[in-house]
Amino acid sequence: MRIGIIGTGVAGSVLAEMLAGAPGITVQAFDRMSEGEAAEAGTGLNVGPNAMQALRIGLPARHAAVRAASLPWSLWFIDTAWGERLFDLDMLDVAAEPGIRLRWSELYGVLRAPVAGVTRRGLVLEALEEDAAGRLAPVLRDAAGGLHRPGGFDLLVAGDGRYSRLRQLAAGVPVPRLHGVALTRLLVPDAADCPYDDYGQWFNGHARLLSYRLPGGAAYIAGGVPLADAAAEVPEAARTADYQAALYLPADRPACPAVAWMVGCIRRQIGELHWARLQDSPLLRGALDGRVLFLGDAAHAMVPTLGQGATQAIEDGVVAGAVLRRGGGVAEIGALRDARVEFVREFSLDSTDTMLPGSDPIGDSRGKMAAEYLAKLRRLYTEIPGL
Ligand SMILES: Cc1cc2nc3c(=O)[nH]c(=O)nc-3n(C[C@H](O)[C@H](O)[C@H](O)COP(=O)(O)OP(=O)(O)OC[C@H]3O[C@@H](n4cnc5c(N)ncnc54)[C@H](O)[C@@H]3O)c2cc1C
Repeated sequence: MRIGIIGTGVAGSVLAEMLAGAPGITVQAFDRMSEGEAAEAGTGLNVGPNAMQALRIGLPARHAAVRAASLPWSLWFIDTAWGERLFDLDMLDVAAEPGIRLRWSELYGVLRAPVAGVTRRGLVLEALEEDAAGRLAPVLRDAAGGLHRPGGFDLLVAGDGRYSRLRQLAAGVPVPRLHGVALTRLLVPDAADCPYDDYGQWFNGHARLLSYRLPGGAAYIAGGVPLADAAAEVPEAARTADYQAALYLPADRPACPAVAWMVGCIRRQIGELHWARLQDSPLLRGALDGRVLFLGDAAHAMVPTLGQGATQAIEDGVVAGAVLRRGGGVAEIGALRDARVEFVREFSLDSTDTMLPGSDPIGDSRGKMAAEYLAKLRRLYTEIPGL
């Protein structure tokens, strides 16, 4: 069986490694990023304990390599902007092992290394054709404009992310849902004076900062603020240092040291904020009679509230790899993955409540210590069907 993978980000790299050396399977992967290109070197991310559990079971060597490149995500607290603790969780109370926090470039580097030999880089998927046997045959373009036709594949896998070209070609452009929150991301390269370490969130009204330290002495700061009009672009006024500071600093009392430190970083690096809008896309697992499989964001871009986007991409890659190795196909992968992903997507969206108008950020954050919410976290972090 000849399997082609478009995109070696998170899901595509994990799947390629799962399939490497499997009897009866030949894998060829493609990615638009050329060798050494670091466009996504970017900011930080936290990956859930459930992804580490999946790697530990499916790819133990990758589990060890990812652990070595990251810091453990062992604690999760939520404070007010003036330092009152609302939520305090030891991750091991709801998970079998800690999650991780690291830079994008570190995660990609560790996941791509073992599949470099089966990956052709610098090639962008452009079109789909069929060969004489009715197999799908991708057409890819290199940076010089040349077209490449690597032949027909029995299965073509979309690991090409949120704006998947393969999904567009095979099933049309998905219509995203926008949820009325603008997100900012910032990398602070030298965070020696950062007054905290592990994963924290701080609320000032519905505006929320999220931050943690990263390997190499850096820190990651993410902001989230409600938008008056969910469909509108982020207003220019929101991009100024004074506007950002006013969002996160309490108006009537001093900010806690953590928030004061983050606001200072945002002020100094205001021009480096990356902006995004909180959104997700409808789940789609397969197309063209089981000849195309969607994984990761290509299948189910989700809101990043619980840090589950890359996390689910890892689960997808491990579970899909295990199914394909034993001769299963798209339907079996969907049967194992889709209910799980819908649970994670809805839970992630529900957990965004405290950033949206109409909620009580203080009371509702305290409410997350209730047994019912913790039981859902335990399900999220430990129950992976198919593993
Ligand atoms: C603001 C924000 C914060 C986030 N924070 C977190 C977090 O803390 N934790 C977490 O788990 N997730 C987080 N996510 C989600 C995470 O970014 C994604 O879910 C994850 O990267 C999806 O992995 P993937 O493998 O599906 O796609 P990607 O990682 O996007 O990889 C896609 C790959 O396909 C390649 N590609 C794309 N198009 C083509 C083409 N036409 N031809 C060839 N190659 C192509 C790209 O070069 C890339 O290598 C966040 C997302 C956002 C927007």
